[in-house]
Amino acid sequence: MTREDIENGSEDMVIDEGKPEGGERMQGNAVPEGFNANYLKVYYGKLFPHADMFKWMSYGNDGKHPACDQSYFGRREFSFTLDNDIYLRFQSFNSASELENSIKEKCPFKIDIGPVYSVDPAKRHAYAQSGDNVFAPVERELVFDIDITDYDDVRYCCSGADVCLDCWPLMTVAIKVIDASLRDDFGFNHILWVYSGRRGVHCWVCDGKARRLTNEQRASIAEYFRVYKGNENSHKKVSLTVPLHPFLGRSYTEVLKDFFESKLLLSQKLFSTEERYEKILEMIPDESITSELRGKWQDNKRSSMSKEDTNVVRWEQLKHILQSGKQKAQALQRCVKEIVFSFTYPRLDMEVSKHMNHLLKAPFCVHPKTGRVCVPIDPNCCEEFDPTSVPTLSKLLEEINMGSLRADIDNEWDRTSLGKSIRFFRSSFLQPLLKVCKEEIENSYNAKLQHSKNSLNW
Ligand SMILES: [Zn+2]
Repeated sequence: MTREDIENGSEDMVIDEGKPEGGERMQGNAVPEGFNANYLKVYYGKLFPHADMFKWMSYGNDGKHPACDQSYFGRREFSFTLDNDIYLRFQSFNSASELENSIKEKCPFKIDIGPVYSVDPAKRHAYAQSGDNVFAPVERELVFDIDITDYDDVRYCCSGADVCLDCWPLMTVAIKVIDASLRDDFGFNHILWVYSGRRGVHCWVCDGKARRLTNEQRASIAEYFRVYKGNENSHKKVSLTVPLHPFLGRSYTEVLKDFFESKLLLSQKLFSTEERYEKILEMIPDESITSELRGKWQDNKRSSMSKEDTNVVRWEQLKHILQSGKQKAQALQRCVKEIVFSFTYPRLDMEVSKHMNHLLKAPFCVHPKTGRVCVPIDPNCCEEFDPTSVPTLSKLLEEINMGSLRADIDNEWDRTSLGKSIRFFRSSFLQPLLKVCKEEIENSYNAKLQHSKNSLNW
């Protein structure tokens, strides 16, 4: 596609050239920042991985194998949020091309993915709601939603929907802790982490046994991850047991402690003002200790002479007092960990995980406010993920323009910065997932054959 194509092109594309700051006319392939239906049309037309989404959501049921459930994909709910906030729920599609055509035609500002229902959700009214025909969700990925706005009391750099490289690592820590537990404690293997496009991350656990969990089982898993049990009468947000649950113990020694001490303490300057350190002192249930520390910190002169960072010095003093031999009470020793947990432990949106019919934004959507694509995050190197450098819609269109002379690449996305995200999605997530799905389909088929053979012999 050339620039002329975009301006005069077959898809009624007009991209306003606009004027950048400074008033200079844009040169070459520059595409003004923004999010609009025209940009989105090009994105869905040339970049969005429709076929991959279909393959994923089919879980191997799109093949010719006699054991494939041909109705499976068609029972999945998609919902589209259109321009002007028109909201279309219970969309369903019977093939890859139906899905692709509908997305291209409706050009949704947001695509959400719901559960697989007992019957085609678009035809739910046609079925008698009785007997075996009750319209109900039967499968759904186990999902997690973690949002940086839930961390506003532990970050001082930003608030609300804003996020910067000082607070984003809280998300990185959440990925590490939850991902390790999903794999090690629950034995899940097919886990997709996705940047939500603005201020958080989503997790899709796609193993068959995860998709078939009941709401009660989902609630138990969500509960397993919960450590925030404080109430309004308590300043402690976190209440840890003795001994610490092995999962929390591992999270503490392998991730949280080091992150708190070597990153968060400094990036958020947690002890730099009275207001900030008072918040931490409130978590210590011993008046004599808090007043001793307060006494040291209110007289700021000595520490200003020290070359060491105030936050580090104060944290060390706090730890020293709480962990010194004098403090026999376990509650006080535990306090150090509780402080670290309350600042760093993942804060999940529980309701999203508990219910099968909760909708979650599809990967590779574009966030309307930021123009950023919801790209997968590799949990094995999530500390390298930088939300501020995620490709935006306008950047991708620019790259399409620049790559228009290259005819040697089949996929348009391959010549854009979205390429590495789609390649990662395929190689690390989709291919291993589909391999297992096909094995499971084959195995269940063979078991059925064996079973009917046995009954014939009988
Ligand atoms: Zn920030």
